[in-house]
Amino acid sequence: MSSTERPAPARNMDEIVSLCKRRGFLFQGSEIYGGLNGFWDYGPLGVELKRNVKEAWWRDMVLCHNDMDVLPGAPEAYSMTGLDCSIIMHPQVWKCSGHYDLFHDYMVDCRESKKRYRHDQVSGRWVEYRGEKLFVTAMAGDDELAGIERQAMKYFGVRAKNVDQLLYDGGARSLTTVDEFSKVLGPDAKTPGTLTEPREYNLMFKTTVGALGGEDDVAFLRPETAQGIFVNFKNVMDSTRFRLPLGIAQMGKSFRNEITPRNFTFRSREFEQMEIEFFCHPSASAAWYQYWRDRRMDWYTRLGLSPERLRLREHEQAELAHYSIGTADIEYAFPFLAPGEYGELEGIAHRGDFDLRSHMEGKLDEKVRPLALQLGPDGKPKWKGSGKDLSYRDDLTNEKYTPHVIEPSAGADRATLAFLCEAYCEDQAPDDDGKLQTRTVLRLHPRLAPIKAAVLPLVKKDGMPEIAREIYLELKGHFNVFYDDKAAVGRRYRRQDEAGTPFCITVDGQTLQDQTVTIRDRDSLRQWRVHRQECASAIRDLLQQ
Ligand code: ATP
Repeated sequence: MSSTERPAPARNMDEIVSLCKRRGFLFQGSEIYGGLNGFWDYGPLGVELKRNVKEAWWRDMVLCHNDMDVLPGAPEAYSMTGLDCSIIMHPQVWKCSGHYDLFHDYMVDCRESKKRYRHDQVSGRWVEYRGEKLFVTAMAGDDELAGIERQAMKYFGVRAKNVDQLLYDGGARSLTTVDEFSKVLGPDAKTPGTLTEPREYNLMFKTTVGALGGEDDVAFLRPETAQGIFVNFKNVMDSTRFRLPLGIAQMGKSFRNEITPRNFTFRSREFEQMEIEFFCHPSASAAWYQYWRDRRMDWYTRLGLSPERLRLREHEQAELAHYSIGTADIEYAFPFLAPGEYGELEGIAHRGDFDLRSHMEGKLDEKVRPLALQLGPDGKPKWKGSGKDLSYRDDLTNEKYTPHVIEPSAGADRATLAFLCEAYCEDQAPDDDGKLQTRTVLRLHPRLAPIKAAVLPLVKKDGMPEIAREIYLELKGHFNVFYDDKAAVGRRYRRQDEAGTPFCITVDGQTLQDQTVTIRDRDSLRQWRVHRQECASAIRDLLQQ
């Protein structure tokens, strides 16, 4: 970025959400019909931003990967390639992967408000008032303490001036720590004891394949893209000359019927993932796990996320997913979270040989070490595998083994949201009269910016629009550029700042004399002149910095 001084991003999520709607980054799905909770539509600027995030990931991880040299921190040189699998797969895939049995959350329903909550996302405090003690709840998040207090005041009929008469027993804690549901006041309830006991709820969306639509035709929308890579591992190895270590990447839609979608696009029911399954020799997998954690952290910081708001969190043993020997999350301090809290951007999991073996032999029992086939009540395999040999033979050493897998699994929507939150800021810039005014600016990395440059004639006369149009059309062949000749130039700059456009090219009086135009840098506000014929190469150089 051209500016080294980055002001702290705004912590006000409402302003970011409002900018997203106003400037066409994100709209609520099916908005004209009142919206559908958990579904979002990307508008004209949003679609470009998200495409650029995905494009940067694909280029950096796959297309431009240097497979000739040993990259810093990598145990050896490795190859990368890609796949694009179907969203609906054979139902047996999800039985062997563990999603059919295990991919669930616990939910509680409120009999009174008819609302449904994820058990672990309800937070509360024990509160006593005039001898009555209840666990008063609110949705966990940045506002939870205030939410709990509001609920308690409403229920006990306590006015603001008497709020100190509410006696709290301890701080906020999760509803999962509470057994006495009769004493719980739900987040939207008026009476205690309306929440049901927690129930399991599978997150996979069901659909039917074919015209008959019986039980045998039930299929699922994929809850992750990863399984498509495992079931195609043999196809890739048989149809190419790749050797291990090899990473196979895929990005695409995933679907999870989240109980409480919230925090803008952070938790959606339809979202996009960018996943790599990295296949390697078991003896090297621990070193590759380390490598991928660092490599992925580095990717986010290079594209502009501040290391102060990013962290790498290694999971505790008890938190590890059923297949995982080790997992670390890359987390970002999103503005909708309480200070000190972080939300997951990407998980990097050491999955061992769980997936390939499960698809080969049948679903393994994740609770048994060493991993062994999971058996049903009849003593036979609970879910049968494909029976196909998914092991690998090294043609140099002749060693045959089932590869271990490291999985960096990122969300394209969460990454896009993090880049947006990081980029949003308000600073001071001079207006058309030279007076300092507050401006809203998206300091997006130029690679991610939806529009790379705007071409602006200073005024709509004297042949300036004609020259600006020529420059615009010339640049259009190379980059996403925008032409604007409406309103005062200062206003046009502001509109581009809000859209995150890193450069504005202005045709002015001097252009008519010497064929030079100004280039304005969004972050530093520096302006300099280049010959109009050098615009394309100047912008290209600037984008590569
Ligand atoms: P969480 O704990 O937040 O539900 P997860 O651990 O279940 O996430 P993974 O299964 O590891 O998520 O999925 C990999 C990535 O996919 C996540 O890091 C995230 O970026 C993205 N992702 C998962 N669920 C959602 C969702 N409901 N909405 C948007 N992105 C998601």
